[in-house]
Amino acid sequence: MKAVMLVKAFNESTKELGEVACMEVPKPEIVNEDEVLIKVAYASVCGSDPHLLEGYFDLPIPSPCGHELSGTIEALGPKANRKGLKVGDKVTGNFYRTCGSCDYCLGGESQFCEHAEGLGAAQAEYIVWHEDQVYKLPEGVSLLDAALTEPFNIAVRAVELADFRLGAHVAVSGGGGIGLMMTQLLKRSGAGRVTVLEPMEGKRKRALEMGADYVLNPLDPDIEEQVQKITGNKGFDAVIESSGNGPAARKTLDFAARGAHLVFMSMYRRDYEMSMNLLEYTYRKELRIQGMYLAQESFPRAVNMLPQMNFKPVVEKIYALDECKQAYADQKSGKYAKLVFDCTK
Ligand SMILES: [Zn+2]
Ligand SMILES: [Zn+2]
Repeated sequence: MKAVMLVKAFNESTKELGEVACMEVPKPEIVNEDEVLIKVAYASVCGSDPHLLEGYFDLPIPSPCGHELSGTIEALGPKANRKGLKVGDKVTGNFYRTCGSCDYCLGGESQFCEHAEGLGAAQAEYIVWHEDQVYKLPEGVSLLDAALTEPFNIAVRAVELADFRLGAHVAVSGGGGIGLMMTQLLKRSGAGRVTVLEPMEGKRKRALEMGADYVLNPLDPDIEEQVQKITGNKGFDAVIESSGNGPAARKTLDFAARGAHLVFMSMYRRDYEMSMNLLEYTYRKELRIQGMYLAQESFPRAVNMLPQMNFKPVVEKIYALDECKQAYADQKSGKYAKLVFDCTK
């Protein structure tokens, strides 16, 4: 079968980027009795996937790529029977598999599981996952929308962590795939006014399609006045930072109201350090800055939300698996919200 593989590692001394390629590899088989064989329909490109080419994950060469997918069950192991899954079911899944028994898992913080396995390999024609990673799609959800469940799940947890009051002014920093899905989710979760801060015009347009009340260019010289005008001279009650850009994240401290909640949910560059004046931001403004790593426990709830969501404006391009070099280059350009592989091609 065809699969997108990381075939060249990042070179630390020359800073030369790694490379992906579409390779012919053996079709995976069910080995353990609780496993499920999925024929992949769509697999999307994650905002973090280009980091594979930048050596962030220290993977062996070659390594399979991708962790966001939808598909159809082709076979089930004899013990994959706890969730009522059947051959032919349309499904999505969670690449991150936690142990369920370490202190973090038992304490409700399984994103920090000490024995987690994060098996990617979604950008391929087939994948084998354990039953506990596989979720049947609710009625009426398209396979294309369902491919975005994993990043949508990140949006679900970020919105929960933002912990705003009904009717609040909430801002999303960054109009990438997750930022856009979050915009629609915020409008369905009681935010009064949603503002998206995004420098690229195309993404600002998509943010409006996803229900944003206001879109602003954070690089405008008078951006702070624009924020004050929208929020009645107060600033945002909550800001979710999804741009992954260090300076953009730093700037959100100035857009926030006193007592605001800020959720920094991106994977930032490893060399960016943020400085902030503690007297101003933690004493006078009482900002609450919440970090975020992964989202684990919200996954079943993210699946439940899918029928209420419409991700059509988020998906910009669909590629065949052997167009993977182009897809990764396009993702790295930062111009597009969400790029998806049609894994049947
Ligand atoms: Zn992802
Ligand atoms: Zn654990």
